Amino acid sequence: MAETPAAITETLLMGPGPSCIHPDVYKAIAQYTVGHLDPRFIAIMDRTKERLQKVIGTTNKLTIPISGTGSSGMETCLVNLLEKDEKILILINGVFGMRMKDLATRLGAQVDTLEFAWGTPVKPDQVKQKLSENHYDMVAIVHAETSTGVCNPVEEVGKLVADSGALYFVDTVTSLGGMRVTMDEWKIDALFSGTQKCLSCPPGLAPLSFSPKALEKMQNRSTPIPSWYFDLTLITKYWEGAKRVYHHTAPVNMIYALDAALGVILDEGLEKVYARHAKTHEFLVQGLSSLGLPMLVEEPYRLPMLNAVKVPEGVDEAEVRSRLLKEFDIEIGAGLGPLAGKIWRIGLMGHTACEASVERLTKALQKILNK
Ligand code: PLP
Repeated sequence: MAETPAAITETLLMGPGPSCIHPDVYKAIAQYTVGHLDPRFIAIMDRTKERLQKVIGTTNKLTIPISGTGSSGMETCLVNLLEKDEKILILINGVFGMRMKDLATRLGAQVDTLEFAWGTPVKPDQVKQKLSENHYDMVAIVHAETSTGVCNPVEEVGKLVADSGALYFVDTVTSLGGMRVTMDEWKIDALFSGTQKCLSCPPGLAPLSFSPKALEKMQNRSTPIPSWYFDLTLITKYWEGAKRVYHHTAPVNMIYALDAALGVILDEGLEKVYARHAKTHEFLVQGLSSLGLPMLVEEPYRLPMLNAVKVPEGVDEAEVRSRLLKEFDIEIGAGLGPLAGKIWRIGLMGHTACEASVERLTKALQKILNK
């Protein structure tokens, strides 16, 4: 029989997300629910938008959280900005680039891809070549590929896409709040994220932002937006202006939580937050190396918040994860797709990213692996 949630003990979440939640965020989510048109709630919505703009590095007016997990942000961007028969180039080096391909295909777009080996980054020279030979309406990339631990060169590719005139669409689910993301400077037109990674909030919202160029595209579509729930022309009537028009009942307490989580990050300061993630990552790599556990990704392309570690020959990787959870209350992630059984994915996201987490994990691994 399932336990009541109250019986669930605290777990150190060091997987690919969700991450550990800051106490201020737990406190916020437990406050009284009010109506979604209550002026006190509308004021919190407005503050959440402003805080999101700061963390995303944008002045875009359309910057809001979508009701749904990270994938709802991906879907919202594509249903609003990509029409049937339009051409999209998707840069793929892991699971989440593949998910973009699946979605764009379902929308009836003409999908072209450039694929790179899992564990290696997107190569800008190949993107440049592709853009010089073809016309695209949109180019899509995942900043932090959570399935492999690779950081893709979003800024460099952004310059190429801007020159080509295509819309630039970026997944920042794992990167936002853990490493630099500057939407306006990097010439990104549509960006989405998720709350459960470096924002250290429970899963359930997808922060999203559209540039003026993306807005213009959305407003001048030749076909209707093929989704009612994710139609941003309707959703923005609730999130903007003096008169808020009901679209769907906002997940009020999740928005309290996101507002608080963004407040925690901004109080610490973005630069300090990024430095903490980078430092904790270095500390983890040292700890793993002292246990003889090598990293999958070459150093310059490693993400600070998602560490792909090679499983040693002869070790039952599922057994190690299961013992970490049962005996030490620590969760780490398994490999996906071609990397299943070959790597562990160790997350250092948001509130999890501190030396104490690394020490607890490396001590537990040492015991389990008899090092
Ligand atoms: N994109 C990336 C890079 C992710 O890591 C994830 C989730 O892990 C998603 C998209 C999808 O987010 P969700 O599982 O919250 O729907």
